[in-house]
Amino acid sequence: MNSVSEILDKHELSKQNIVRLLSITDKGEHDYLIRKAYSIKETTIGTNAYLRGLIEFSNQCQKNCLYCGIRSGNHKVTKYSLTDEEIIQVVELAQKNQFTGIVLQSGEIQNADFTKRITGLLIKIKKATNAEFRITLSLGEQSLETYQEWFDAGAQRYLLRIETSSEELYRKIHPDNELHNYKTRLKCLENIQKTGYQTGTGVMIGLPFQTIENLADDLLFIRQMDIDMVGMGPYIEHTDTPLYNHKDLLMPIMDRFNLSIRMIAVLRILMPSINIASTTALQSIVPFGREIGLKAGANVLMPNLTPEKYKSHYLLYENKPCIDEEADECIDCLANKVKMVGEEIAYDDYGDSKHFTKRKASFNP
Ligand code: SAH
Ligand code: SF4
Repeated sequence: MNSVSEILDKHELSKQNIVRLLSITDKGEHDYLIRKAYSIKETTIGTNAYLRGLIEFSNQCQKNCLYCGIRSGNHKVTKYSLTDEEIIQVVELAQKNQFTGIVLQSGEIQNADFTKRITGLLIKIKKATNAEFRITLSLGEQSLETYQEWFDAGAQRYLLRIETSSEELYRKIHPDNELHNYKTRLKCLENIQKTGYQTGTGVMIGLPFQTIENLADDLLFIRQMDIDMVGMGPYIEHTDTPLYNHKDLLMPIMDRFNLSIRMIAVLRILMPSINIASTTALQSIVPFGREIGLKAGANVLMPNLTPEKYKSHYLLYENKPCIDEEADECIDCLANKVKMVGEEIAYDDYGDSKHFTKRKASFNP
């Protein structure tokens, strides 16, 4: 088997090479991989971190994913939905704090009322921000027409995690019905890209039944799909979900954390100019988790701006950080932590994915 430094000197990584990098157990090798990924980040996209404010505006969800704490089958959850006015207040808070964009995330609802509500909301946000703002949607699977309507109303980016690129594993972590179908999810991702969005996807890392080969395939899937932005993080078990029954299959939480960090590093090496988020799930395991993600090649942070009274009802997984802090406090502590790892928050920059800018130039010469 090749040494890590020999593998990293290669021009092109094979699946076998990726498996070897993800399987690293030696601390020296792990650190070497991280340093290599960071040097690529420094030379291609620099040491700026981009901020997007995350608004988890509703936990109502029609789906029942076996891993997720707000699945429709979990009746312990108190349902909530922010009003448009409450969302606009958060947008204003984000602008006041020099954010150049937000991510609107919620459970998945597919109906005409929801589509219309989001279209109206996008128009209001555009007006409130003089259109000088980037809006990312993370509202799950929708029809091509709905994606188009929201794009036309002003959303520029869309995040839809494939969760795993293995159809077999996808079936194990979702109920077996029409609403949870791998091929439909993949089709939605293709439709998002076709509509013209900066397209984001991602996976959960350390799921029960998941192999290192699955994760290597996930990274190759992301590259083959020509994705612009990625958010991936450790799977964190939630007591009130069916997947919790398989908790004995899970690797220790710190192993899941370090594997997630290596996934970020290998992806940065494979795709030097995409945006990669350092996710909140990393921070829920290690207090400096997101900053460690930045040092491994990530360049986007999504501080949670959901008002405090709702945050505790959006527990996709347990031990979510900062749920009892108001948004302003979170922003201050984040800026300090980013400085401590030698990075700078880029306040006056939309932070568009450079990969997207290049991709757009090639289909719009
Ligand atoms: N409903 C939308 C967006 C909200 S869920 C959707 O599903 O696309 C956002 C992400 O949270 C999911 O894509 C999933 O990857 C992640 N998530 C859910 N449960 C999780 C868990 N137990 N551990 C880690 N991530 C989880
Ligand atoms: Fe709903 Fe998204 Fe959770 Fe699935 S992952 S249950 S779609 S919120």
